[in-house]
Amino acid sequence: MSLIVQKFGGTSVGSIERIEQVADKVSRFRADGHGVVVVVSAMSGETNRLIGLAHEVQERPLPREMDVLVSTGEQVTTALLAMALDKRGVKAKSYNGSQVRILTDDAHTKARIREIDDARLHADLDAGYVIVVAGFQGVDEHGNITTLGRGGSDTTAVALAAALKADECQIYTDVDGVYTTDPRVVDGARRLEQITFEEMLEMASMGSKVLQIRAVEFAGKYNVPLRVLHSFQDGPGTLISLEEANEMETPTIAGIAFNRDEAKLTILGVPDMPGVASKILGPVGEANIEVDVIVQNVAEDNTTDFTFTVGRVDLPRAEEVLNRVAVELGAREVRADSKIAKVSVVGVGMRSHSGVASQMFSALADVGINIQMITTSEIKISVIIDEKFLELAVRSLHSSFELDKEPTDEAAA
Ligand code: ADP
Ligand code: ASP
Ligand code: MG
Repeated sequence: MSLIVQKFGGTSVGSIERIEQVADKVSRFRADGHGVVVVVSAMSGETNRLIGLAHEVQERPLPREMDVLVSTGEQVTTALLAMALDKRGVKAKSYNGSQVRILTDDAHTKARIREIDDARLHADLDAGYVIVVAGFQGVDEHGNITTLGRGGSDTTAVALAAALKADECQIYTDVDGVYTTDPRVVDGARRLEQITFEEMLEMASMGSKVLQIRAVEFAGKYNVPLRVLHSFQDGPGTLISLEEANEMETPTIAGIAFNRDEAKLTILGVPDMPGVASKILGPVGEANIEVDVIVQNVAEDNTTDFTFTVGRVDLPRAEEVLNRVAVELGAREVRADSKIAKVSVVGVGMRSHSGVASQMFSALADVGINIQMITTSEIKISVIIDEKFLELAVRSLHSSFELDKEPTDEAAA
């Protein structure tokens, strides 16, 4: 008998009917003799609704109270699913994060899991219960409720699978696996049979929100076998694994990720001297604003233009900081642009194939898209472009790298 952790996302538990369907599915696994721990999200839209309520009361609610509020969504679905299982004659118990004791740090709204007390869960599993755990939430050492950041139920599931040494962690969602790019944006997107942790981590970090970044990090670190599947359609889904597929079949590019969550700031005409970068980015960091892509150009008149991106939500604060810095440094001007997007091609195959960057740039040039900034890592190339060309860029890259074709076609050719 194996132990499986199954996580069902918001749309999969978005109505009573869906919860009943999830209960049918879980019952089948139980009937096959598997031990099952289920992690559920809040009903789709619920977390956003709760955040909206908070903002009706206060512009900047205290993070502690925000966590008390948004964690309620997951508690509703755990109880409803446990009832639906009970109705089917399946013994089930629901728990919230603090009852399991998913211990986290105290970073409200983005807490990290430190430790999971698995004693109670093991006792229940041994007694034949299906355990239904509220995703996305934990408790700090003082007993305060914490949450793990948007999409955090994925991380709850992976962390539980690691703590319980489960045989597999299955992430059930509204798509039947991880695709070469978001299937809601590109019609020709293709489901991947498998992808490495490393690639999945880059895809998630670069904006593919099919899995929360920390869930992938966790799964890689503890080598948790992880699979993304459709909640209500049968199929193999996508396996996220340590190993690359055999080398012949390893495509250069696994997928394309993108996001619209960043904004660009430029400080122009800064007198060029040693330490300029730290004088500009130091105060930005002190304001707790994360910087992503950075480009600096030196002009012939010994001034420099310095451009960087920040999270779009941080733009107003970052602009304030930069205006102050501009006065101190005697810079000419500060420009802000929130209408940008980041597009990234990701693949471990890049390590052994050259020319990926030039192929990417010429595919974009062919459709007239101007690249504003570029950044690379060993298995990823990202560009910043005008937001209005995002979909065109993703589609062009998808066909240029032949992602719509099965990789074996290529190997056979
Ligand atoms: P859940 O509520 O189940 O956690 P999410 O909305 O968080 O579901 O994640 C699933 C969504 O991720 C899909 O509906 C899809 O639009 C999006 N997505 C983005 N990139 C990808 C990708 N590369 N492969 C599959 N889905 C993707
Ligand atoms: N309900 C939370 C969210 O919407 C957590 C999750 O669904 O994973 O972000
Ligand atoms: Mg999700």
